[in-house]
Amino acid sequence: MKKIQMVDLKGQYEAIKHDVNPSIQEVIENTTFINGPKVHEFQHNLERYLGVKHVIPCANGTDALQIAMMGLGLKPGDEVITADFTFAATVEVIALLNLAPVLVDVNEDDFNINIEAIKRAITPKTKAIVPVHLFGQCANMEAIMELANEHNLYVIEDNAQAIGAHYTYKDGTKAKAGTIGHVASTSFFPSKNLGCYGDGGAIFTNDDALAHTIRGIVNHGMYERYHHDVVGVNSRLDSIQAAVLDAKLPHLDNYNRARQEAARKYNKAFEAYENIITPKVSNGCMEICDTCDCHVFHQYTLRVIGIDRDALAKHLNEQGIPCGVYYPIPLHRQKAYADVRYNENDFKVTNQLVQDVISLPMHTELDDEQIEYITETVIKFTNG
Ligand SMILES: *Cc1c(COP(=O)(O)O)cnc(C)c1O
Repeated sequence: MKKIQMVDLKGQYEAIKHDVNPSIQEVIENTTFINGPKVHEFQHNLERYLGVKHVIPCANGTDALQIAMMGLGLKPGDEVITADFTFAATVEVIALLNLAPVLVDVNEDDFNINIEAIKRAITPKTKAIVPVHLFGQCANMEAIMELANEHNLYVIEDNAQAIGAHYTYKDGTKAKAGTIGHVASTSFFPSKNLGCYGDGGAIFTNDDALAHTIRGIVNHGMYERYHHDVVGVNSRLDSIQAAVLDAKLPHLDNYNRARQEAARKYNKAFEAYENIITPKVSNGCMEICDTCDCHVFHQYTLRVIGIDRDALAKHLNEQGIPCGVYYPIPLHRQKAYADVRYNENDFKVTNQLVQDVISLPMHTELDDEQIEYITETVIKFTNG
């Protein structure tokens, strides 16, 4: 059996190096390292793929979130609501801009931001909501957009984990993750569903004026050479990373399908065990539809009930199976983001999830033998 990896970037590279290598070589040959034609090609190809008017590439996913918030003109003290159960980048940039982060609880079944908790957190100072499409599926965007319209709030989608996923509205129509809110951010960190070979990120929006503002912000607040109208940043996707991404973009749907296929096999193996809760796909039809793209499984995250999760993780590691705990500490309990206004009773779900969740290897190169070995090892430990 091939050695099991949490993410198999080498295996994926081997299969596409005939596309990737010449694409990188081209950048080196014509030395267009910054803002070269590859960046523009990738930008346009991603706009077409997502069906969004503007993609603004930048240096990483954290910058993308920060720049999106700067573009909206949020002011110090404005309250921004986001999920307690996510990667720290989301809350970090809110705090960094001197906005006021307001963390709220998530759903037990799909791990995404809870609508009732958002409602309770809205005050006259609230200016924005940042739903994180956690582990590869969209938050309840229909409800979030309704709340945003009602209270005149911006919605910034943190789409670092769900590129290529679809959101399905109640009436059956679909939209790509990251094209529903006023603006969205994504990350091309190597292990993301569309990853480059270094750091990268992008901002998406359908709003022409906002796109213009953001294009200036990423480039030192410059709209005309050496005229600095606003305080900006230097955040660019370099051309070599764009070359990698442009070569990988045509494979994205197949990559996401490979992840779904692996998830389906995991689900099947665990379905008989009540103490192993498989991830719920909220807006989709994984069970009945072969081409379901509602969940792109950035992570395949189980909850184990009545089992020492850390002991399971240790056992899996000892058996040659890498695994991860995303995330082990709720953000409201992190030193940097603690706030006397938070009440533990408002975070019942996150507080439970941090004890129960475990993410299994998930990538585009998992084979049946590996999946069988992983599932058998988990089942033997939890039900043996
Ligand atoms: C990865 C990630 C980010 C940050 O992306 P970087 O490119 O590493 O800066 C932000 N939010 C979420 C939810 C992520 O998973």
